[in-house]
Amino acid sequence: MVEKRTPLAVAEAVKKVVEQAVTIGAEKVNLEESYGRILAEPIVASSDVPPFDRSPYDGFAIRSIDSEGASGDNRIAFKVIDHIGAGEVSTKQLQAFEAIRIMTGAQLPKAADAVVMFEQTIETDDGITIRKPFLPLENVSLQGEDLQKDEVVIDSGSFINPGTVALLATFGYSQVLVAKQPIVGILSTGTELLAVEDDLVPGKIRNSNGPMIVAQLKRMGLTCKMYGMSVDNLDESYQVIKKAAEETDCLITTGGVSVGDFDFLPAIYEKLKAQVLFNKVAMRPGSVTTVAIANGRLLFGLSGNPSACFTGFELFVRPALLKMMGAQKLYMPHTTATLGEDFTKANPFTRFVRATYDGQLASPAGFNKSNAVSSIARGNALIVLPGGSRGYEAGDTVDVLLLGSEEGAARWQL
Ligand code: AMP
Ligand code: MG
Repeated sequence: MVEKRTPLAVAEAVKKVVEQAVTIGAEKVNLEESYGRILAEPIVASSDVPPFDRSPYDGFAIRSIDSEGASGDNRIAFKVIDHIGAGEVSTKQLQAFEAIRIMTGAQLPKAADAVVMFEQTIETDDGITIRKPFLPLENVSLQGEDLQKDEVVIDSGSFINPGTVALLATFGYSQVLVAKQPIVGILSTGTELLAVEDDLVPGKIRNSNGPMIVAQLKRMGLTCKMYGMSVDNLDESYQVIKKAAEETDCLITTGGVSVGDFDFLPAIYEKLKAQVLFNKVAMRPGSVTTVAIANGRLLFGLSGNPSACFTGFELFVRPALLKMMGAQKLYMPHTTATLGEDFTKANPFTRFVRATYDGQLASPAGFNKSNAVSSIARGNALIVLPGGSRGYEAGDTVDVLLLGSEEGAARWQL
């Protein structure tokens, strides 16, 4: 008799998984290796930024008071008494109607409180003349105008993007406390599977899920432990999975979670005494997606169907791994879009349609069955069509999950 499974709503299933994911600790890495990691400490400003008042232009530092009354008919003359570039500090003290030639980034000299840009001056034998008055602090980049000492600039759990790296460098973090990366195992199950380099023979297909998941992990900045492929044999698969589950923080298997005669994952979870969180989700593709816990480790049983496998990873594995790394943002960025084509077939389950999204229109990316490989490659988004009795028409407003991004749109790829 075929086992009856009760489908769980997608949001509930995601919640169940995320609840079970626990953080795995932190480690220090050199700043150069920090890009793409998750901060495990807040970044605190160790100084003001900028750390001193400075010139934002190439020009002349003056006392604004001396420019009072300047006009086209009444040009005011300044004597230039020093010349400094960025990194240099003038030792001179400005007196009335004196100026210091100053380059962008140089510290404002004592007594100066305004900068006249080159193009606002006419040079004379010993200095310059100007034709307009300057206000106090005009053209001055003020100490602390960007960030102030002791301010928490970026929260723990944030993704380290290139700007974060710049901040870390600004504040002298040569080493950064980041979340440890989970050890993720991948095993592809299926007697029909060939290795990538194998020639096709009748009845067999090449394993595309394994390499795809490697890439999905890589997109998150994660590496993995490969357990290769196993044939559909209970004992053989059990041995590999038992070992893999012990060696990893999280194991992803593909295939074998359905109710077919050679789908052995359910029996393996039982043998492992794993707690199955769910084995049916009200979604298409990927309704057979199963998640279990064995010895506190997450076991993801993704469908072997490539599109289902892909979607299962993005919906369930990704947020769980991010949670294990203490990330603040666990979920794909989403938006609404206009549906580009009719999608008339009603379905009681929520559909995730691999799609191309151009900033306005979202259209199915071609052949969209759960066994499709092509639409995974062509799509950059998933259209979410809630289950129900009706279909959807071109022009409808639909929700769209944006793929190919880590922490929002940081690594957005079309
Ligand atoms: P299963 O989930 O094991 O019932 O497999 C569902 C479908 O996905 C079958 O047509 C399999 O041949 C196919 N499939 C399973 N594993 C893979 C894989 N690693 N790469 C590509 N297709 C697969
Ligand atoms: Mg199979």
